Amino acid sequence: MKIGIPKGLLYYDYIAVWKDFFEELGQEVIISDDSNKKILTDGVSKCIDDACLPVKLYHGHVLNLKDKVDYIFIPKIISVEKKTYQCPKILGLPAMIKQSIEGLPEILDTEINLRNRSYKTSIFELGLKFTKNIAKIKRAYNKGLQSLCDYESSFKNRSISHAIKKTINNSKGISTIMLAGHSYNLFDEVINLNLIQKLNKSNVQIITPQMLDKHTNDYLHQVKRKIFWSVGKQIVGTCFYAVENKMIDGMIYISSFGCGLDSIIIDIVSRKCERNNVPFTVLVVDEHSGEAGFNTRLEAFLDMIHWRKKDEDNISTHG
Ligand code: SF4
Repeated sequence: MKIGIPKGLLYYDYIAVWKDFFEELGQEVIISDDSNKKILTDGVSKCIDDACLPVKLYHGHVLNLKDKVDYIFIPKIISVEKKTYQCPKILGLPAMIKQSIEGLPEILDTEINLRNRSYKTSIFELGLKFTKNIAKIKRAYNKGLQSLCDYESSFKNRSISHAIKKTINNSKGISTIMLAGHSYNLFDEVINLNLIQKLNKSNVQIITPQMLDKHTNDYLHQVKRKIFWSVGKQIVGTCFYAVENKMIDGMIYISSFGCGLDSIIIDIVSRKCERNNVPFTVLVVDEHSGEAGFNTRLEAFLDMIHWRKKDEDNISTHG
């Protein structure tokens, strides 16, 4: 059987476990093409207008797989750790896709909800669809988990992840920038208009939240209210760590227009940067984003950081 995995949203966090799990069960995994203009246009045409750019793009990836596979894997990811939730658009994703696109192959919409059942239960339920051999499912589950650990360590060691296939500049550059935001905004080149490549060319060393993940919980007590989105916790915790340990010369936050979660997280992170005199900027993207305006803002921000380093550090960090 051919199982399609759309290259969008939480693909960038969990592809290692999903791919290896299905392959160990003897299934063929087909990943949709890298994001491109056609995938985006197709996605926008099928998705509701109010959705954010990553959700629209995800619709395009589903269309890209539609006639090539027997199943499309779109899990209903409600919670990946106790007492947290995912963004409502992510937990409603399978329902939204089924509603928006007709003629799809069967959707594997396994529910992952660590608030009320274990990850293992969900994965075993999924495995039983392909084999009754419990030992085989267990092997596939363990293989998937191991791959996920390797995948996450590849970030922590600041090496290049095979799934993301990005060259992230880790050598010491002119300056070090924290690139903050959701994984799909950071690693999808259509969403972020090739931001990583642009920073690499500008000789900037890049740090992302995934690289500092083990410090996520160290600084969360500084936030008055509990953050109940797991990705929000990761972004806030790692950004606070980078700022307090003076690891970065500036921070760029990539956000999708209309993201409710970011409207809160950006406020928390930008205040932290301001208090610590760390330059901070937000680049907001949607399907109408133009490269010229984006580049101008990026260049101005990098120039400001370089001047601060070279000449005077009293240049305003916040415009
Ligand atoms: S967290 Fe924001 S960017 Fe991500 S799916 Fe939800 S609304 Fe869209």
